[in-house]
Parts: sequence; C-alpha cells; structure tokens
Amino acid sequence: MPHCPGDPDGSVVVDPGREPEADGAPAPGQDAEAGPSGTSDESFDLVVAADGLRSTVRRSWPGDPGIRYAGYSAWRGITDRPVDLHGEAGETWGIRQRFGLAPLSDGRVYWFAVATMAQDVRIEDEMAAVRATFGHWHAPIPALLEATPADRVHRLPINELAGPLPSYVRGRTVLLGDAAHAMTPNLGQGGGQAMEDAAVLTVALGGLARDDAPDPVQVGSALARYDALRRPRSQRIARMSRLVGQMGHVRGAAVSRVRDQVLRLTPERALVRQIRQVQGWEPPAG
Ligand SMILES: Cc1cc2nc3c(=O)[nH]c(=O)nc-3n(C[C@H](O)[C@H](O)[C@H](O)COP(=O)(O)OP(=O)(O)OC[C@H]3O[C@@H](n4cnc5c(N)ncnc54)[C@H](O)[C@@H]3O)c2cc1C
Repeated sequence: MPHCPGDPDGSVVVDPGREPEADGAPAPGQDAEAGPSGTSDESFDLVVAADGLRSTVRRSWPGDPGIRYAGYSAWRGITDRPVDLHGEAGETWGIRQRFGLAPLSDGRVYWFAVATMAQDVRIEDEMAAVRATFGHWHAPIPALLEATPADRVHRLPINELAGPLPSYVRGRTVLLGDAAHAMTPNLGQGGGQAMEDAAVLTVALGGLARDDAPDPVQVGSALARYDALRRPRSQRIARMSRLVGQMGHVRGAAVSRVRDQVLRLTPERALVRQIRQVQGWEPPAG
C-alpha cells in the first residue's frame, strides 16, 4: 500500500541517515518529500512527528496552513569573553528593530538583534550590518558586538506556522514541537512548548509506551488527551508571541512612540500576570 509520510495508519518513511539542520530545513542535497535513497517504509503503533518548522509529516496533514515569514530576521551571537551587564538582561525596542541580551553562567553574553527586512535580502557581511544597525545603541550593546567574533554571528529569517492546526493528532500519528506549532521566538517559548508537548505525551501514554502490543483504542484515547491538553495552550502562546512581534515592529516613529507610552503605562502586575500565564505550567497528573 502506498504511504505518505505519517499516514494515520502509523506508517512513515524513515530516514535514519538524516543530519540535523539549524531550523529543520531539509539537509543539503536531500529532497525531504521523496527521501534520499536508503529510506524505508515501515509501520508503527505510534508515530511521533517532531520534524520541526518544515515538517514533512505536517505537509500531508489536513488543514496544514504552511509556514510564513514574520517580516523580520534575527542575528544571534555569543561574546567570546565575559561582559559585565551590571545585573541587566532583557530587550530594547527601537523602530522596527530590537536588541536583546542574556548573561550566560560563565559571564559571556548571548545576544540577539532583530530587524524588519525582506526574507530573501542578501547581506555580504552580517557583522557589518549588525554594527551599522545597532552599533550606536546604548551600552553595553557596542561592547557586546565588539566582544563577538564576526564568524560567530548568524542571521535567521523568522518563520512561523501560518495559522493554527485543527488537530495535532491523525490516527496513530502525532505532531510535537515546531511541527505542531512553530511560533516566532518573541517569548522564547518554541523549545519550551516542545518540551511541554513531550511531557504531556509521556504522561498521556503512561504504561502504553512500554507495552509490546498496545491497545489501539487506548492509544487513540491517549492521543486525544494529548491534543486536548496541548493544542489550546501552545496555540495561545503562538498568538501571544506573534502579537509581541507585531508590537515590536510597528511601522514608523510616531506609532513606535505611542507603543512605548502604552507599555510604560501598563501596570507591572498585568505584565507579571502575562508572564506567569506563559511560564507557570505544571504537567498533568498521570
Ligand atoms: C532565532 C530563534 C530564537 C529562538 N529562541 C528560543 C528560545 O529562547 N527559547 C525557546 O524555547 N525556543 C527558541 N526558539 C525556538 C526553538 O528553536 C524551536 O521551537 C525548537 O528548536 C523546536 O524544536 P523541535 O524539536 O520541534 O524542532 P527542531 O529543533 O527543528 O528539530 C527537528 C529535527 O527534525 C529533523 N528532521 C526534519 N525533517 C526530517 C526528516 N524528514 N527525517 C528525519 N529528521 C528530520 C531536523 O533535522 C531536526 O533535527 C528560537 C528559534 C529561533 C529561530
């Protein structure tokens, strides 16, 4: 019987030789849909498709909205030496540009710089572009750029799922992580949500995961529970994350000033409540 990857009957095209890609893109020289020679077609009690933003399995899913470019790209870097942030961490917003920083445990600093741009823009020298855009921003941003080797700076276009999926489950196949809910990184939650997915799936499956011949009806119930527990929360966080990006990249100086004023006037307890909604999560009982 012919199968597409991740058929509801639990069949999948397996590619054991595949190398990881930075954002889930097909490995160079491979056609992810057809699979390179050496792939095999096998059946399983359960297929967990955690194949990222450009999920091959999701492409065969009913209602797959595809992915879309968020309108901005992010450079990321890590300094090669400690830089004193005087206890600071966070993000500065400009006009359609943002710069964020976070200290690492050894004193070095992880930073990201986000700017509105066309998805396919070609930049000869990425570090020169970062310096030209952010080098005159407030301290310690120039010092962070100074402390980062140019060959350690990378830029990624920010993509997300173009809309919510109607289900994360199809028969015995289940989507997990970016395959299910690829989101913008504005809340730093894509990886976190993937881990929550994994925790919930583990709890939902319970002892079935160790069963040599699990009852398909019980597997179906476990997957329905996974879908019910994970889809509302992960899709809500994806929406919130998109909104943060839209606020961060509003067009024009005047609108940016209004935005800054609104943020200044937002009570801290409202912000704390939002953060708690995102970060305060407990796995379900078994
Ligand atoms: C700029 C940026 C900053 C981010 N910052 C944060 C952050 O601070 N915090 C956070 O939690 N998240 C962050 N994220 C999001 C996070 O990186 C992703 O949400 C997370 O990596 C998703 O994990 P995943 O396992 O679902 O997918 P991936 O990490 O993409 O893993 C999918 C894997 O599947 C493999 N694969 C794909 N197709 C096939 C195939 N056909 N056969 C075999 N293997 C295949 C890929 O090679 C890859 O190894 C950020 C993302 C970006 C772009």
